[in-house]
Amino acid sequence: MGTPSSSSVVDLIVSKRDGGELSPAQLQRLIAQFMRGQITDYQMSAWLMAVFFRGLSLEETVVLTEAMLRSGRQLEHRGNDRPKVDKHSTGGVGDKISLCLAPLVAACGVTVPMISGRGLGHTGGTLDKLEAIPGYQTRLTAAKFESIVRRVGVSIIGQTAQLAPADARLYALRDVTGSVPSRPLITASILSKKLAAGLDALVMDVKVGHGAFMSDRKSARALGGLLRSVGQRLGLPVCGLLTDMSSPIGTSIGNALEVREAIEVLQDAGPADTRELTLALGVEMLRASGAEPHAGRARQRLERALSSGAGAERFERMIAAHGGDARVVAEPSRLPHARHHATVLSPRSGYVSSIDALALGELSVHLGAGRTRADQDVDPRVGIELSARVGSWVERGEPLARLHLASARRAAESQAATLRAFGWSERRPRLRSRVLERFG
Ligand code: URA
Repeated sequence: MGTPSSSSVVDLIVSKRDGGELSPAQLQRLIAQFMRGQITDYQMSAWLMAVFFRGLSLEETVVLTEAMLRSGRQLEHRGNDRPKVDKHSTGGVGDKISLCLAPLVAACGVTVPMISGRGLGHTGGTLDKLEAIPGYQTRLTAAKFESIVRRVGVSIIGQTAQLAPADARLYALRDVTGSVPSRPLITASILSKKLAAGLDALVMDVKVGHGAFMSDRKSARALGGLLRSVGQRLGLPVCGLLTDMSSPIGTSIGNALEVREAIEVLQDAGPADTRELTLALGVEMLRASGAEPHAGRARQRLERALSSGAGAERFERMIAAHGGDARVVAEPSRLPHARHHATVLSPRSGYVSSIDALALGELSVHLGAGRTRADQDVDPRVGIELSARVGSWVERGEPLARLHLASARRAAESQAATLRAFGWSERRPRLRSRVLERFG
């Protein structure tokens, strides 16, 4: 590993800028020197932008992923021989699936060590949602995480300084320099964290559509394929689903509201699409773990864990192990709630043909449920509750949504923004499944 010199870093930036391929030694040195503070943030940002435009070869992506993994430690889960499987979503609006899926799958005998992120741009983050539960700690040491995973079978935490710290630093730069939507960078980011968590298999939920980072199926498919190829090279089997993200998932957007909806699903109720996504991804996790290779039987096991309350009980145990108030599961009114509300009424009669996920994701950030800078706090109480969904017939004057607000000041502009997110049709629109295709 040669002595750092700014000219050698510039060479790597220039080489990538001009479409060159970096050797494994050059990539390993780039990450190692960046982590030692020998490469500045502005040089790394320039290199990331060069990658955004020029891409990385499969070989480069494999080496980058491994170098990012080696920036920290890798969990071994000593004394825990059960298969460990995680699910990761590329980010959506109203995407509370991890909250119900992880305990549900754990109740079916699969160990779920889940490392999640915070809200980014218009997409929400699982950690922000969990922190809406009073007392829930998302920052745990790796040792505590391993201990909860062993005892409870499921734990959801944030990235620690010990696990793939290079990803946290690179992500922070990408987030503020417009280089997040790059397939090789997304792949290295996700897989370095997942490999560090000591998984046996990973199920991906690659979101497609207006409210997702990948707006079309072709690029989502390419991302799924790259995740699978790089995973295969590094010994982590990856499979998953491409799922539709053109309208918000379920009926709620906002942290406490989404916890409430996830609890409803665990209580064998909740919106049909939230339940459907939970079951479809659960089937993939049970199959990937080897716990139940047959899709139909896997689904039956998951449905039984919903109807028996086993999934809800596992959620309570996970919340308690993280220091949170597990009573929210039986009494969701204990979740924080907003003091101000505004109803959005329909200006016309007709079928709702579309609800713009990106627009409502942006509105929820504006209300305080998400952040525009990494150091901002989120308000757990605020958000949007949809009364009408795509395909609903609505009469003029009927409610379309209820806004949960921190203050009444922004009610009128938020009501107008919500209204603009609705598309209308005279004829009943065709309803499609959220699950578009499977890969792996
Ligand atoms: N999720 C991640 O963890 N990393 C990315 O780069 C994008 C989505």
